[in-house]
Amino acid sequence: MKVIPVGIWGGYPKANGATSSFLIEHDGFHCLVDCGSGVLASVQNYVPLEKLDAVVISHYHADHIADIGSLQYSRLINYYLGKPSPVLPIYGHDQDEENFKKLSHKEQTIGIAIQETDIISIGPFEVTFCETIHPVYCLAMKFTVNGRSVTLTADTEWADRLVDFAQGTNLLISEANLYEEHLGKAPGHMAGSEAGKLAKLAGANQLVLTHLPLHGDPAEILAEAKGVFEGNAELAVVGKVYEV
Ligand SMILES: [Zn+2]
Repeated sequence: MKVIPVGIWGGYPKANGATSSFLIEHDGFHCLVDCGSGVLASVQNYVPLEKLDAVVISHYHADHIADIGSLQYSRLINYYLGKPSPVLPIYGHDQDEENFKKLSHKEQTIGIAIQETDIISIGPFEVTFCETIHPVYCLAMKFTVNGRSVTLTADTEWADRLVDFAQGTNLLISEANLYEEHLGKAPGHMAGSEAGKLAKLAGANQLVLTHLPLHGDPAEILAEAKGVFEGNAELAVVGKVYEV
């Protein structure tokens, strides 16, 4: 499979950037993970919007869902133009009913509820989930195809259960939103050292850091991760194709 970072920022995007989001592809199937601010503009660099086959949402914070409404409008406008696309499934948990309902829009998109215990097929992928530790209910996810996997932590502070969940994964995409001096002061997020520890304990082959802060120099976060994880680690690069 191919994994392409669409956005890398936490909270809000840098100018012309996008919040943390990834495109996961295999066999011509395109699945978007999270759809926050700037994502709709950015993802079109890699796939036309009408070719998206599925979207998975980790949680309902604005930096993960802000562009869902515009995505729905893109399909609605094509429908009015006489070029309707198939109904787009948007997977998200339903522990927040009000936000879950917004995933469905007329004939354009349909919300599909996911549970932590689910093992579901999305196109060619087997997808599993793990609850993270975050101020709102949030699911980490693992995409597996042909015995190879990418695990995305979504938003979380350190959680032991993620070590088991990510065990043996080929590519770990971990949030690393905090500088070390902010550890323990901002709930629901990890620092680079923790992302590195997760990659190490899970035996991941490769670590890619995302949900980065706009302040300071994220290279420091990468250095902290590399201090713990001896494998290949880097900050996510928008548009880079990671072959898994
Ligand atoms: Zn969040």
